[in-house]
Amino acid sequence: MNVGILGGGQLGRMLGWSGIPLGIRCRFLEPDPESPAQTVGEWVSGSYHDPEILGRFSHGLDVVTYEFENVPVEAAEFLANRRPLYPPPDALKVSQDRWIEKQFARDLLIDVPAFVSVGSRDDLDRGLKMLGYPAVLKTRRFGYDGRGQWLIRSDSEVDAAWSALNQTPAILEAFVPFDRELSLLAVRSQQGTVRCYSLVQNLHEGGILRQSIAPAPNVSPSLAKQAEDAAHAIMGRLSYVGVLAIEFFEVGGRLLFNEMAPRVHNSGHWSIEGAVTSQFENHLRAILGWELGETGNRGVAAMVNLIGTVPRVDEVLRIPHAHLHWYGKTPRPRRKLGHITVIAKDQVELQQRLGRLREIAASPRVPEPRHGAEIENTGTAS
Ligand code: AMP
Repeated sequence: MNVGILGGGQLGRMLGWSGIPLGIRCRFLEPDPESPAQTVGEWVSGSYHDPEILGRFSHGLDVVTYEFENVPVEAAEFLANRRPLYPPPDALKVSQDRWIEKQFARDLLIDVPAFVSVGSRDDLDRGLKMLGYPAVLKTRRFGYDGRGQWLIRSDSEVDAAWSALNQTPAILEAFVPFDRELSLLAVRSQQGTVRCYSLVQNLHEGGILRQSIAPAPNVSPSLAKQAEDAAHAIMGRLSYVGVLAIEFFEVGGRLLFNEMAPRVHNSGHWSIEGAVTSQFENHLRAILGWELGETGNRGVAAMVNLIGTVPRVDEVLRIPHAHLHWYGKTPRPRRKLGHITVIAKDQVELQQRLGRLREIAASPRVPEPRHGAEIENTGTAS
């Protein structure tokens, strides 16, 4: 089978790699000729906006998907008229705009933090009166890994946030004093079967995911049900096919929807070694109309992102049940260069292994650049 993937970052690379044992050939469309997925499939280098390139890319494909959510919707719709394309372009429309996304969730009776639309300074001042301090100002579009958002803690911080926003359409959100952040990875088949992975506990710093633990400890059946109900509602409404990630805040035993990504997700990387079927394989199975794989856990797993620098490979591999994934990107501050997944039989053993990993990470080594040229992060893959 031939699968076309819009985007060629690390998520594309892990998709392409997981398809190899299943006899799936992936072709990537990616403007940057030096991106992580080039080692696992055929490459079409060109613009998402060029119909000639899109036509060449789609030739002979059985199905098309994408690995970042800022794919131009017009490109997805153009391709969807020629080939089956999953997840549906409507999922892109929802997730590309925080205002549309939050309203979409609220319409499905999913709890969201209080939010207002901000198109002018008056809107911002009115919003702050309504929501109080602290509040978070976020651009409606193209924000990721903490970019395009500003925490406003008092009157004195409003002017700076407003000028940084630079007239970009935005939303203002109540700051949520969450107990923890959780995410749910779910997959829906073409026949409408939904399977959910265990809830994942995530730690972000500076807006970037640093660490995930799966299954999240201390998850009550009611908490899991809230998350799974949200996934069923969203996927049902969108006639969704493929993997969907939903990020939540947990506050006092209640989940608040933060955002969703209509694609495989960084908080699901642990599933390569820590689940019966990885999120990547299940995404491919879903979009090809195949039976979904089991989503149960194999032990407990932690995933640690390697951001800006990577530790010494030999030291990491000395940790029992540690698996290193290195994306081959040029190192740069705040850039996701790879991740490590550690598997253990229980949380105690997992914490011991993570402790060892933290010691190693404290003396990181910046790798030699793999490519001659500095490469930009190709998408919002997070
Ligand atoms: P986002 O891009 O919306 O996922 O935000 C990135 C990270 O910023 C989240 O994972 C949280 O750690 C933090 N954050 C975003 N929105 C809020 C909020 N309303 N209240 C508290 N923390 C937030």
